[in-house]
Amino acid sequence: MRGRPEMRTPPRQTHLFEEHRVARVDCDVLIMGNGIVGNLAAAWFARHMPALHVNVVGPAARTLPIVGESLVEFSTQLLQEIGLGRHLVEEQLPKYGLTFYYKVDPTAPADPRYVVDAVPTNPPLPAFLVNRFTLDEALRQLNRDNGVEHVDGKVVRVKLGSGARHRVTVRDADGRERTHTARWAIDATGRRRLLARQLHLGDRVPHQRSSFWFRLADFDPSILDRIDPVTSDARRPDAYYATHHFFGRGNWIWLIPVRAETGRQMMSVGLTCRPDLFPEPVTTIPEFLDRVAGEHPILGDLVRSGWVVDTNLYRNYMYRTRRRYSSQGWFIVGDAADTVDPLYSTGLALATMAIQQVGAIVRRDQAGSLTEGFVGRLDRAYAGFQELGEGQVARLYDVMRAGYQCRLRMHLHVIGFFHMALPLLLNGYHADAVGAAMMARLGGPAHGLGRQLTDFEPLIARAAARRPSPPVGAGVRVHSAFAMNHSWFEHCRDDEIPRSLSRMFRHMVALRLRLLWTAGVRSWLDPVQLGGLLRSAIWGVAIGALGRRSLKRSRLTRWLFASGRGDAHPGPASSDPMRAELTR
Ligand SMILES: Cc1cc2nc3c(=O)[nH]c(=O)nc-3n(C[C@H](O)[C@H](O)[C@H](O)COP(=O)(O)OP(=O)(O)OC[C@H]3O[C@@H](n4cnc5c(N)ncnc54)[C@H](O)[C@@H]3O)c2cc1C
Repeated sequence: MRGRPEMRTPPRQTHLFEEHRVARVDCDVLIMGNGIVGNLAAAWFARHMPALHVNVVGPAARTLPIVGESLVEFSTQLLQEIGLGRHLVEEQLPKYGLTFYYKVDPTAPADPRYVVDAVPTNPPLPAFLVNRFTLDEALRQLNRDNGVEHVDGKVVRVKLGSGARHRVTVRDADGRERTHTARWAIDATGRRRLLARQLHLGDRVPHQRSSFWFRLADFDPSILDRIDPVTSDARRPDAYYATHHFFGRGNWIWLIPVRAETGRQMMSVGLTCRPDLFPEPVTTIPEFLDRVAGEHPILGDLVRSGWVVDTNLYRNYMYRTRRRYSSQGWFIVGDAADTVDPLYSTGLALATMAIQQVGAIVRRDQAGSLTEGFVGRLDRAYAGFQELGEGQVARLYDVMRAGYQCRLRMHLHVIGFFHMALPLLLNGYHADAVGAAMMARLGGPAHGLGRQLTDFEPLIARAAARRPSPPVGAGVRVHSAFAMNHSWFEHCRDDEIPRSLSRMFRHMVALRLRLLWTAGVRSWLDPVQLGGLLRSAIWGVAIGALGRRSLKRSRLTRWLFASGRGDAHPGPASSDPMRAELTR
């Protein structure tokens, strides 16, 4: 590492709040946890419901690792909406999409040839690569300016009100306790998972993940030029300012350039693996260098050219929550609810979705029109998207070293994200009664898109087995103007969503036909594939026939998804089935 020793800093003691005003004991919204999601939620309320009094509780000195340097379009939109758009442009780095690197010959580590799949032009909407320390400080400053009050201390007890005000006891650094009351309580305590633990809402995930990451400074970025790309993109805005993803056996490595406070060269580097497929521990820099030597020696050279600022480790860190929102005025958001695999940088996008849903529930509650059905629909829309994304990414590890399969599956993920998920989210379907029910149906893991994607997996494997080696150069690009749905993003109109969805399903029909052709005659007799083909064709034609109209406002979708159909918790808000448990 250029003669400099690896520098291990002690746990960070960043002082989050310089001035400590004494916060009001009674407030409207009490946010437990002062990480990025708690502060984003506070900023959302300050922007959209300024009449509400919001308190954020959390320790002033931070010792936990901070992670999440890549924003996607949806999380960027939230930051712009609350007033941090200028900060992003002036203080952070632009993100020109994601770039995926697949080894042409994974059995020859020294071979510098990679199939490089990059965004071909400017992405349809802006996104950023963020230094979380400067972003988090700008967010806290924004909240201070907007009158959000900070309570310095840790929540030690929560008594949920079930109709009455919630009572939250906070212990400060000197051991003094004080009880605060609030009409709405939001748990954003991250991995502490205060409410999920108290209410026994934790759920297991089928596949674990571990992540080791560090910040690298003063490295030589020209080392990346040694990569011999099998594909090239003449119109790429800037190849460096992207998230870089290198695939290996049961693992992938990220490189994310960030702007350092001191103006020096800096990037975040991390390895995420599924431990059942990649059992070798990566917990230190020497272990990291040892593992990358076997797959991507160029990355080893890059790390050795700089010096390591700090290291962090999450082992077997995946979990999820069975329920996130209640009509009784409590909510669980961010890492306090679910963790994500960082492959597509969706952590803060999911948190954005949750914050906007909580806002919609609070609005209805305030207006006296909240029902269990509405809360249940929003919860299911979130759970469906979270499970769909998590399930797809978890299974991708099976084929990360098999370039052809990995590329094709990712191509389908990108198609689904830009043709369905992002258009629906940008138009607020997740926070609307009809829209949320539709999202749960279209996007859930067991039906709609989830089932389509899963059904593709054996077909892709069969097609891969019949391709000549090296099998990486599939005729499909993960990123292209079509896959990224540039035609919809020209105007981002709600009434263009049916066409976008129809294009997605029609593309799936065409892709499945191509794969069936490659996989051979026996695949045509597979009922799963024929069923998938038929379903995509029917969805494509049916949604396309709706023409130009808003799906959440169309009479047909309102009839299909409104009036309690599929509500898990029908009836008025007061009949919450968890009530007894909460008041124990
Ligand atoms: C390896 C990895 C990489 C990731 N990369 C990305 C990415 O590129 N892009 C992206 O969008 N997302 C990414 N994510 C997800 C993202 O990091 C998380 O979604 C986000 O950081 C969660 O923030 P949070 O505020 O919920 O939790 P935290 O940041 O953990 O904050 C929780 C806060 O609660 C406080 N707290 C804890 N207990 C109490 C208590 N009893 N009382 C009061 N306060 C308490 C803590 O002090 C802390 O400040 C990544 C995640 C991982 C694991």
